[in-house]
Amino acid sequence: MNTAILGGGLSGLTLARLIHEKGDEVTVIEAEPVYGGLCRSKTDQGFTFDTGGSHIIFSRDAEVLSFMRRMIEGSEQRNNRTTRIFYKGRYVQYPFENGLSDLPLEDRFFCISEFVKTHVAAEKGELPRPENFRDWIYHTFGRGIAECYMVPYNEKIWKFPPEKMSLHWVDGRIPRPPVEDVIRSALGIPTEGYTHQAVFSYPLKGGIEALVHAIAEPVQDRIRTGFRVTSVQRKGTVWEISNGREVIRADRCICTMPVQHLIAALDGVPAGVREACDALRYNALICVNIGVRGAVPAISWLYIPDNTLGMTNRISFPSNYSPRAAPEGCGSVLAEITHQPGDEVSSMNDAALTEEVIKTLELMGILSREQVVYSSVERQPYAYVVYELDYRKNITLVKEYCTSIGIPLVGRFAQFEYLNMDGCIRSVMDFVARQAES
Ligand SMILES: Cc1cc2nc3c(=O)[nH]c(=O)nc-3n(C[C@H](O)[C@H](O)[C@H](O)COP(=O)(O)OP(=O)(O)OC[C@H]3O[C@@H](n4cnc5c(N)ncnc54)[C@H](O)[C@@H]3O)c2cc1C
Repeated sequence: MNTAILGGGLSGLTLARLIHEKGDEVTVIEAEPVYGGLCRSKTDQGFTFDTGGSHIIFSRDAEVLSFMRRMIEGSEQRNNRTTRIFYKGRYVQYPFENGLSDLPLEDRFFCISEFVKTHVAAEKGELPRPENFRDWIYHTFGRGIAECYMVPYNEKIWKFPPEKMSLHWVDGRIPRPPVEDVIRSALGIPTEGYTHQAVFSYPLKGGIEALVHAIAEPVQDRIRTGFRVTSVQRKGTVWEISNGREVIRADRCICTMPVQHLIAALDGVPAGVREACDALRYNALICVNIGVRGAVPAISWLYIPDNTLGMTNRISFPSNYSPRAAPEGCGSVLAEITHQPGDEVSSMNDAALTEEVIKTLELMGILSREQVVYSSVERQPYAYVVYELDYRKNITLVKEYCTSIGIPLVGRFAQFEYLNMDGCIRSVMDFVARQAES
């Protein structure tokens, strides 16, 4: 049995490794000259940046976490998470509801009183069931936390109105804060949220790409890079996968590349399925990498909800993840800007984007332009799945169709779900286990 895996990101590579371990033939087909997808990194002039945005290794899933940590054994940097939200010139502890005592007094009162009012109303059963993400934010956190942080930040990262987003994905991803913790936090008694992330791992050398290199190691010679799949056809019992010049044949075909690329490569897709696929929304990402002479704040990453500070929604400090991520005496900043494919941000050139980010960092007092010794820009066409209200209806149609023609979907943009690295690896492990059973 020869399996072709479309897409050589973390999901495709992990899948290839596990299939190979079972003794089957496998070929990973990747469009880019370098495999790794969103988990790639680039080292240039002594600075290492993750090119798909800042990545850290963490998970609630013990089996997956131990798999990832085993992969980077001997080169693992363990870090305590120090994450902040930049709010009215202050560094507020993250998550916001655990950092209320860092707020100006009036805002602190607004957040806690609205939180308590909402909590009481919920206990009395007076709140209607939330119908969308915006309602869910108000019903979970109250008007104060919603308007100071949750709504502006979510509008900035999703580039989509929260009232037009579904809420099925938030459970577990954005935990409901216990009321005692929120009161403690407003009084200044330390509390910790998102504890599964409080300590995280990062490869000492090579950025997050070191993880995918380690995973891919046993299947290195089975990866075909620079092959952009444009056609996938079933000929009898064989799949023919083509880039327009060359054909790769396989008995089985599994898709880990964005499902949009698969649907575009297939013949005879019903119009309704194509329309459903076209309606799936996602955000692209621009990363602006800045290297500076001197130190950067002792923070892991920082959320920037305030629109007046520029387009960047999050910055991270890779030189705080690993001492090898920047040359001696230097620090690094990675700024993330989400945007809609084809919007005006997409057409900004690298110089304009770099200038935009440096201005933001200067306004925030993080650096001065004289310190900058390095800059570069990376772009990712697929970064975040946006769960708009029709998401479930559309993705169900697309998935049912792919299942009906015998192409399983595995991974973040193949399943079209907000999966982190651990979620992708979990999907792969479960997929392989199901195959073994059948
Ligand atoms: C800003 C950001 C920060 C993140 N931070 C974290 C984090 O801290 N921790 C964490 O666990 N997760 C994080 N993630 C999530 C993580 O990046 C993903 O879960 C994971 O990388 C998805 O892997 P994948 O293989 O499913 O998809 P991708 O990485 O998207 O891989 C798909 C592959 O398919 C290839 N491809 C596309 N079209 C074609 C074609 N036509 N032919 C052939 N190949 C094709 C692509 O080039 C790509 O290599 C983050 C994601 C983003 C965007």
